[in-house]
Amino acid sequence: MRLRYKPWAKDKLNEYPQYSIQQPEQYKGRWEEVFGNDHPIHIEVGTGKGQFVTGMAKANPHINYIGIEVYESVIVSALDRIIEADLPNVKLLSVDANDLSKFFAKNDVERVYLNFSDPWPKVRHEKRRLTYQSFLKIYEDLLIDGGEIHFKTDNQGLFEYSLMSFSKYGMLLKYISLDLHQSDYEGNIMTEYEEKFSAKGQRIYRCEVKFQN
Ligand code: SAM
Repeated sequence: MRLRYKPWAKDKLNEYPQYSIQQPEQYKGRWEEVFGNDHPIHIEVGTGKGQFVTGMAKANPHINYIGIEVYESVIVSALDRIIEADLPNVKLLSVDANDLSKFFAKNDVERVYLNFSDPWPKVRHEKRRLTYQSFLKIYEDLLIDGGEIHFKTDNQGLFEYSLMSFSKYGMLLKYISLDLHQSDYEGNIMTEYEEKFSAKGQRIYRCEVKFQN
């Protein structure tokens, strides 16, 4: 993603603590206090400008969503969407996915979404891919038993790599589509990247995998 640095982003995120969670460490194991209910929590890691989490939150008012994005200059666009839609069931966290265990305890989350994650095609960058083994361990440690990852990408190489990574980790493949937009899958909410790449005629790969614990 081309990143335009926005020096004011941090201040704006701080102005809306009802949407952009400050000091998230304090909510580890207590996220129901943030949402004011104990509905299931689904997180999107690498949420970008937030079109997906916002769309999902509108479509599923009884699920709580948390969009996680490392760059404040990017997630601030997600904040604008949430302010405009005034949604109570979506929050944002501007943190690195490597640090998620500081903010979430086992069973805090029911599902992890990974959408159009950066492919990091060079072998020496494998550890940065959000489907690398160390990230799977992080997700497993915050999910409920049998929790799921739902993954979409336009990148065939990353999709193949990720299927191998899920398999090596002992995960169960529940659903796969090699051409999501031509499939019978219903209720798809498009991300920004998905709109961009599918408009160019690129096919979208999607899978659902489950931890076997
Ligand atoms: N999910 C959005 C979509 O489909 O339109 C954005 C996709 S964009 C290619 C990937 C996003 O993941 C970027 O905004 C990037 O900053 C974020 N990201 C990459 N690595 C991350 C990490 N370790 N922790 C949090 N966010 C990360």
